[in-house]
Amino acid sequence: MKYDAVIIGGGISGATCALVLSHFGCRVAVVEREAHVTPLLHGFVRHGVHHDTGFHYAGGLGPGEILDRFFRFLGLNQGMELYPLRAQGFDRIVDQSTSDVVEFSYGEQSWRDSLLAAFPREAAAINRFQQTVLSICDSLPYLNKEKTFGEDALFANSQDISLQAFVAELTQDRRLQAVLCMHCLLHGTPPDQIPLRLHAAVVGPYCRSVYGIRGGGRQLSQSFAASLQQANVDLYCGSRVTAMSVDPDNNITGVTLSSGQELVAAQVIHAADPRLLLDWLDEKCFRPVYRRRLTALQETQSALILFGQSARPVESLADRNLYLADLHLGTELFSASMAQRPLYLSSAGLELSTDDGVAQRCGIIGIMPEDYRCYEPWQATRRGQRPEEYLRFKHERRGQMLERIEQAAPEVAQALQQPFLATPLTLRDYLHYPQGAMYGVSHQLARYPLQVATRVRGLYLSGQALAAPGLMGAMIGAFYTCGTLLGHQRVAEELRQWQ
Ligand SMILES: Cc1cc2nc3c(=O)[nH]c(=O)nc-3n(C[C@H](O)[C@H](O)[C@H](O)COP(=O)(O)OP(=O)(O)OC[C@H]3O[C@@H](n4cnc5c(N)ncnc54)[C@H](O)[C@@H]3O)c2cc1C
Repeated sequence: MKYDAVIIGGGISGATCALVLSHFGCRVAVVEREAHVTPLLHGFVRHGVHHDTGFHYAGGLGPGEILDRFFRFLGLNQGMELYPLRAQGFDRIVDQSTSDVVEFSYGEQSWRDSLLAAFPREAAAINRFQQTVLSICDSLPYLNKEKTFGEDALFANSQDISLQAFVAELTQDRRLQAVLCMHCLLHGTPPDQIPLRLHAAVVGPYCRSVYGIRGGGRQLSQSFAASLQQANVDLYCGSRVTAMSVDPDNNITGVTLSSGQELVAAQVIHAADPRLLLDWLDEKCFRPVYRRRLTALQETQSALILFGQSARPVESLADRNLYLADLHLGTELFSASMAQRPLYLSSAGLELSTDDGVAQRCGIIGIMPEDYRCYEPWQATRRGQRPEEYLRFKHERRGQMLERIEQAAPEVAQALQQPFLATPLTLRDYLHYPQGAMYGVSHQLARYPLQVATRVRGLYLSGQALAAPGLMGAMIGAFYTCGTLLGHQRVAEELRQWQ
């Protein structure tokens, strides 16, 4: 088959690219190795309960904000109901060393007030943190609709400082430092490695509004599938790209699938792990320095994910998330022991489910960063066939997570039924990043950010590796890539209609 564009990876970013290009009249195909598009959003059903895996909440979804405009432009809003998380305390941090509570609220003033309530002497640090984060957001195209698209590079900047260095300048209070770094969980790169600009781009929108989607990621996944069908995008699901073809002048000509089928295309957008290009293309297609850059890319943190259910919604998780952490660790929070590092709890978007036809059940999820290296002894083992030793280790980890929940959020522990754990090996096998990354490759300080266009003409990058992780990062990356192909002004003009 011959296409204007073939997109590799049907995650949020690849699906968004497909919809934008179709909107502009391109004949598009998406190749996704899993059985359906947006597999990370699709989640899974176990014990009669649907468990969400790739979306719980986001900033930027409020009326007229960037994700709202993207959704309406792409037709994703049809049949979708958004709901605001609690304006006062959408994220509540429980300090496990003191049992004190610190809350994040949204609305610029409320955001500051909620932190000031916990740190009354730190007004200067809190104000400066917020001002800096918001002024970075407002300087970025897409996050500020007045900015010209394509005018700047995307979010990252190799000259930046780290989030850790920035908060250390602001305050000596280690607990406040930890609080200001807590949302590193939203991009998976620790505070000493994440560039301030990238962190600001990811977390800044949460100062202004925070929404969930009724039905969670599954609803969003269904909306993507419906829009792709309506746009007549050809889907090659359950197919892996295994090679790319390039002509003697270094122009892309198409891709080969695991089935051996070839798809011919003038343009190819790679919206999965950028390191895969090293396997698919001949050495001479890229300069050695670019190959080295791809090889050097590191993954974001992996995680332990505890999935469970409850017979009724848990009040402390109603329209809010809980973060359990030992705040005395300051910015070292993310390299701390199991008993101290951040543990995120949510049931956002996970409605009562009647899938089992008997009892109504509600999904609960707990996420904690975890080092993939602890699982290396078993990395050659396969799902469903892992040895006893691994299962014991996993059982212990599950027990430790449950113990922390019991201690800091007893009402969640009491309600939680049939909890089971996904480890970094599970994440590796489902998300296809070799070290079980939650958010793909990491945007790290002092690394030159990836560019959209590559040296192979017609081959472009997209996905969370390009702009930033998260729903917003993946979608902005997609619009930016399509803008590079079609002309940023052309895309901006169309998007303007959805202000
Ligand atoms: C547990 C969890 C919770 C999250 N919660 C939130 C949240 O609350 N809010 C938020 O904003 N973000 C959240 N995220 C992050 C968000 O889901 C991701 O950043 C986003 O989905 C990334 O989209 P993407 O398209 O860039 O990448 P991916 O989803 O990784 O898409 C890449 C796709 O490429 C496919 N692929 C890989 N190799 C090949 C190949 N060879 N051939 C064909 N296809 C291939 C993969 O199967 C995959 O579907 C969460 C992530 C996780 C893991």
